[in-house]
Amino acid sequence: MIYTGGTIGMVKDPVSQSLIPFQFSQLLNKIPELSELSCQIDTDSLEEPIDSSNIKPEHWVRIAKRIEQDYDKYEGFVILHGSDTMAYTSSALSFMLKNLSKPVILTGSQLPIGLARSDARENLLTAIEIAIARREDGLAQVPEVAIYFEYDLFRGNRVHKVSSEDFEAFQSLNYPKLAEAGVNIKYNSGAIRHPSKDPLKLQTNLSTNVAVISCFPGMNQSYVDSIINHSEAEVFIIRTFGSGNAPTDSWFLSAIKNGIKQGKLFINASQCEGGAVSLGKYEASQKMQEMGMISAKDMSLEAVVTKSMFLLGQSLSALEFKESFEKNLEGEVDDKLV
Ligand code: ASP
Repeated sequence: MIYTGGTIGMVKDPVSQSLIPFQFSQLLNKIPELSELSCQIDTDSLEEPIDSSNIKPEHWVRIAKRIEQDYDKYEGFVILHGSDTMAYTSSALSFMLKNLSKPVILTGSQLPIGLARSDARENLLTAIEIAIARREDGLAQVPEVAIYFEYDLFRGNRVHKVSSEDFEAFQSLNYPKLAEAGVNIKYNSGAIRHPSKDPLKLQTNLSTNVAVISCFPGMNQSYVDSIINHSEAEVFIIRTFGSGNAPTDSWFLSAIKNGIKQGKLFINASQCEGGAVSLGKYEASQKMQEMGMISAKDMSLEAVVTKSMFLLGQSLSALEFKESFEKNLEGEVDDKLV
């Protein structure tokens, strides 16, 4: 179990009254049930537990390396993490930990573990149960990076935080749940990846030269130009409307066209959580298709951002980047989509 911080382990600062992370040892004391589980749990913690708003690729590398270091020693891994950016971490880890044959389950909570109504205890205990679950053939039941939250298990690179209020904080509109927990945990075996027979391969080169531009009616030219022409970004994720549509103003299309000419990479990713980008379906996306914009298809924003960081870190040519990006690498995209 790797503790990174998040609400699950937070307490109120007596002076500011804000929630701040506290030390891991205190958190374990609050769940005596852990000692009743039929498994041995070893723990590790970030030196300084953090609110997940402060998570960075360096933390992902630290977590991934920790998993690799003791990969043979454990049946599964549970990561305690703030829910705010949990879907970014689970997406990133899905690309960084290639050939998984063991579960890596992230969980956290909406209320701190010390509160009577907290969702932390159930989330944590069931996440551990999933991390040690075996199929009839003895292999891991869920050999992939996944998020367990409020009775549902989601693929880590297909999930999105939808509520800062509800205990049901996550949703995955474009991919079925991997499991649902009731009296028993019902695994959706058809949706779960097969354990890899190849050895785990760690890929830790990530580049943060990524920018996200969210389209909105009335968006002005100086805003778009300032990002495309005055930032160090190499990949521009354009968050479009519906099935990949955007304003057809000539200044907007020229900004993309000129950027592509200069070797910059442009990805069309929809603001819709469900459904897919379908370039050329409407006139409002046709020009972007003709320019060779990359389609995020039905990927989540979290998957698009972290896949971009991951592929940029591989020093690919523009064409190789586009081909790899549109491919299904770790179950993050429906590869039947064109
Ligand atoms: N701000 C917290 C975090 O993401 C929220 C949570 O844990 O749910 O670290």
